[in-house]
Amino acid sequence: MTANIIDGKQIAADIRNELKHEVSALKQKGITPGLGVILVGEDPASKSYVTAKERACEEIGLYSDDYRLPRETTQADLITLVKKMNADPKINGILVQLPLPKHINESDVLMAIDPAKDVDGFHPVSVGKMMIGEKAFLPCTPHGVIKLLERSGVKTEGAHVVVVGRSNIVGKPVANLLFQKKKNANATVTICHTGTKDLSYFTKQADIIIAATGKPNTITADMVKNGVVIIDVGVNRIEDTSKKSGFRLVGDVDFEALKGKASLITPVPGGVGPMTITMLLFNTVESAKMANRI
Ligand code: NDP
Repeated sequence: MTANIIDGKQIAADIRNELKHEVSALKQKGITPGLGVILVGEDPASKSYVTAKERACEEIGLYSDDYRLPRETTQADLITLVKKMNADPKINGILVQLPLPKHINESDVLMAIDPAKDVDGFHPVSVGKMMIGEKAFLPCTPHGVIKLLERSGVKTEGAHVVVVGRSNIVGKPVANLLFQKKKNANATVTICHTGTKDLSYFTKQADIIIAATGKPNTITADMVKNGVVIIDVGVNRIEDTSKKSGFRLVGDVDFEALKGKASLITPVPGGVGPMTITMLLFNTVESAKMANRI
């Protein structure tokens, strides 16, 4: 890897290795952290995420209980399964893979998860606790971004961070985590979105840019100052006839042009992506520790 490229794969592998040791120590005390995963339907991207999550659980020694349900599953049956997992002491974390089929109300299902097992960090109780700076399950992708910055030695204290995107799963929580009066945070944060009048006016002032728009080339080299740190959360498929699959993955920033100007930058793939599942494992281990008052 080039010196200024943040190697998300390596950082994720380091954290997984630490978790593996932690899980092995917990097992010696008779505690095996467990993750319950529910997938409804046949969405290929969801299926591959769930398979990757199952593999990751196995890799670090977690117990996992997986349910792959048909598309026609009713909301009532799904909520009954979530409640069964809420009551199961072998399960410390519950993950319902999104998106759910249209006939199911996602919010009703997420609300049924016991906040003590909300390892995705999407339950309003977790979001509220995060917002007021209390200990909470942090949503996995934003938490992964914070860990990437921390482990790459990027100082956020007093830095101006520009977050581009305001979704509930990335933009809002990552901005929230970064302005908390805490270690590895305490930044001045600007949040931009499609209503922002002149995006480059803000990005040019940024010490750190977090791009989460789902649009390739949202940030180009003329929009940043020299030495900026760029975390690219985006994952976009673009046509590439040279690939067997017919596409390749790119992020939300013009990586090739920016890598010569940024002091640090994440690649896509291999940047934020590997951190998301890793932080899910992290939350599951934390949940098991909390359940056992460790
Ligand atoms: P959403 O589509 O929910 O949100 C995108 C946000 O970006 C919106 O707030 C939108 O503004 C804003 N936006 C879009 N275009 C522009 C623009 N040109 N200028 C400024 N703001 C813009 O996306 P997500 O947050 O769910 O995901 C963002 C990206 O991150 C996607 O590529 C997704 O695939 C990826 N992702 C990657 C993960 C990983 O593990 N690596 C995990 C989750 C997501 P407005 O609110 O005004 O519409």
